[in-house]
Amino acid sequence: MSLSLQALLQKRADDGFALAYSDLLLEPAHSAVMPRDADPSGRFSRTIPLSVPFVSAAMSTVTTASMAIAMATHGGIGVIHPAMDPEEQRKMVRKVKLRLNGLIDTPVTIRAQISLEEVRQLREDKGYGFETFPVVDDRDRLVGIITSNDFKFWPDPSTLVSDAMTPYEKIVHGKRSTTPEEARTLMRTHRVRVLPLVDDDRKLVGLYVSSDVERVLGSRKNYTLDAQGHLRVAASIGTLEDAYKRAELLASVGCDAFVVGTAHADTQGVLETVHTLKHTYPHIDIVAGNTSYDEGAKRLAQAGADGILVGQGPGSICTTRIVAGIGIPQASAVFECVQALKGSGVPIIADGGITTSGDIVKALAIGASAVMLGGLLAGTDEAPGEKVYVNGQPMKEYFGMGSGRAMREHAASRKRYGQQGIPSGKHTPEGVEGRVPYRGPIESVINELLGGVRSGMGYLGAKTIEDMRAAHAVQITQAGYVESRPHNIYLDHSE
Ligand code: IMP
Repeated sequence: MSLSLQALLQKRADDGFALAYSDLLLEPAHSAVMPRDADPSGRFSRTIPLSVPFVSAAMSTVTTASMAIAMATHGGIGVIHPAMDPEEQRKMVRKVKLRLNGLIDTPVTIRAQISLEEVRQLREDKGYGFETFPVVDDRDRLVGIITSNDFKFWPDPSTLVSDAMTPYEKIVHGKRSTTPEEARTLMRTHRVRVLPLVDDDRKLVGLYVSSDVERVLGSRKNYTLDAQGHLRVAASIGTLEDAYKRAELLASVGCDAFVVGTAHADTQGVLETVHTLKHTYPHIDIVAGNTSYDEGAKRLAQAGADGILVGQGPGSICTTRIVAGIGIPQASAVFECVQALKGSGVPIIADGGITTSGDIVKALAIGASAVMLGGLLAGTDEAPGEKVYVNGQPMKEYFGMGSGRAMREHAASRKRYGQQGIPSGKHTPEGVEGRVPYRGPIESVINELLGGVRSGMGYLGAKTIEDMRAAHAVQITQAGYVESRPHNIYLDHSE
């Protein structure tokens, strides 16, 4: 009679042992769940659900704006890395938030007294790809709107906007609170392609464009979106003064969550930062990390964390355990933290050490609400950096944020992994530098990983990730591990 996964991990912990994902296998169970019917949705933080429980790592070789956009459009979320100046990070977050333009909150406007030729010139100078402009007066009140049709109907370029525009009285408009669904209904009913939003003083406060709204609502099911229909994005912001400065800039562009932390989050600096940010930005989720033991997770949650990153030393590029002699094998670390936060509503994100979809299944069954991925995503087109060829094989660079290279190149890395008081250039690295195989577009990687997760859920008879937590498990030996992998065959493709 096997033990439940939780009971097994508890028993090992009682004896002072900790297990890695590869030490474990889950026991298949009677199932009425087909993999395609399994629902793998998870959670990033208290208020951010994910339809796919994957988070891209806050690393300079993994997550910039294009990775964050890809993650959110596949149902996960990306954490923009901190190894750049705050202004650049603000621009990246903004780029993600503006990607879908379900709602354009600061539309480009024009004045009524200029000519159509001047509007055309403005479009050319600024590179605007659109031809619809709300027309406002000097108090930003909406007086009319001009669309591509007006340019066609008024061939004389010296025509004034005031003559060509549809005047305010004839414009269908909404309020600041109009949702994308309401906007779609209004635009369909009145057969208009844009819907300006105005406040009680007739001031322009936003604009919906029908093609964007249709696209956003059409794909809404799988995207990770905020209430306005924008893609969600998180950003890693470090601690204390640096974090406060970044938080202010990033909050101004609608960042959905701040990831606060260092390689060791159970410290005064991190706890204080979490506490301060939670009070300053109560509407923004704070995810804190990294930790790997119960008391650390509890203190972070008490300080106000809305999600906790668990993992100290499991990362594929990580040498913390070798350099500093600390760390807890990841399956047990996730278990300890999940148990410590049971009933608190604070989700755990299992960060690092995921090498296969099977590891993801184990992390979720232990109780994680999502997994953070570095190495598995670093080889995709959406990760920063160019493809390089090594012995004819396409590869992409991947290095630890605490590697010698990152510490030389990024101040944020020196702060996170550097030894306090030791001059820059003399830090002992806690990560390595290398390459991972090029994997093409992220979509195929996500589909492959998700396929594995669904398959695992099918074997366990689990419809949801909560159901996975009833799994039974065994600890395996080295022979069991060898038996589990392809053997006695010359593989056609090996990595
Ligand atoms: P991977 O998915 O196994 O490649 O692990 C990625 C995780 O490793 C990141 O999300 C970080 O938590 C962690 N990490 C990133 N850089 C370093 C480093 O240089 N040393 C230790 N851990 C790191």
